[in-house]
Amino acid sequence: MLSNIRIVLVEPSHPGNIGATARAMKNMSLEHLYLVSPEKYPHEEASARASGADDVLDAAVVTDSLSAALADCTLVLGASARLRTLSWPQLDPRQAAEHACGASQTSRVAIVFGRERTGLSNAELDLCQYLVHIPCNENFSSLNLAAAVQVLCYEIFAAYQQYPRQAQSIGDNIPADQLEMQRFYRHLEDTLVNIEFLDPDQPKKLMRRLRRLFNRAQPEQTEINILRGILSAVDKGYGK
Ligand code: SAH
Repeated sequence: MLSNIRIVLVEPSHPGNIGATARAMKNMSLEHLYLVSPEKYPHEEASARASGADDVLDAAVVTDSLSAALADCTLVLGASARLRTLSWPQLDPRQAAEHACGASQTSRVAIVFGRERTGLSNAELDLCQYLVHIPCNENFSSLNLAAAVQVLCYEIFAAYQQYPRQAQSIGDNIPADQLEMQRFYRHLEDTLVNIEFLDPDQPKKLMRRLRRLFNRAQPEQTEINILRGILSAVDKGYGK
């Protein structure tokens, strides 16, 4: 089920880091690498640093947006060097690996890493259910990108050694994927504006708070369909 876990790098600028990431992944039996608008890929420096993990590197999927890289994932974890405000529930690497391990039994999971210079934006973290922070020296908390990938891949590998290997049947309870969740949030926002609960000129943090609430619940597809149905009924009542 490790094959259900992907590593996503957002706009990496150094090809060496892409290669080192591929190597860090393969060492821990992970193989699915996604690159969102990499500055230089393919590149000889990436191949040199991959040293033997060329298969992972060559099979990397390049997308032009983070949401495209996450569309079919149900659990998305964002790795952040900085501790943000309380908008995102936070996990340490071990907890993150346990979540990833559990979710990957039935669906796809992404671990997202940010740019070398600026990390992940708040809008990008909005696509993540959890933020993962690697505890370290508080005065020097930014690890090299591939080193951060290594820590998380190791924890995932270790968590898999522990995980009970019972076969799980996929029943009706299929979790909603990111594409469905993003469509739901757009619908919710439109309806809230429509009923004048949300003022688009003064949105404050309402949508971020609501995302956090629904992300915590990790709704199933059928539940999202019910919620969308309710929103459509409200839209109709308001003549939309
Ligand atoms: N200067 C950037 C740090 C970028 S480091 C910033 O302040 O955000 C590049 C990426 O490596 C980060 O976006 C994050 O995904 C990962 N990373 C680095 N250090 C980390 C840490 N201590 N915990 C979790 N992820 C980390």
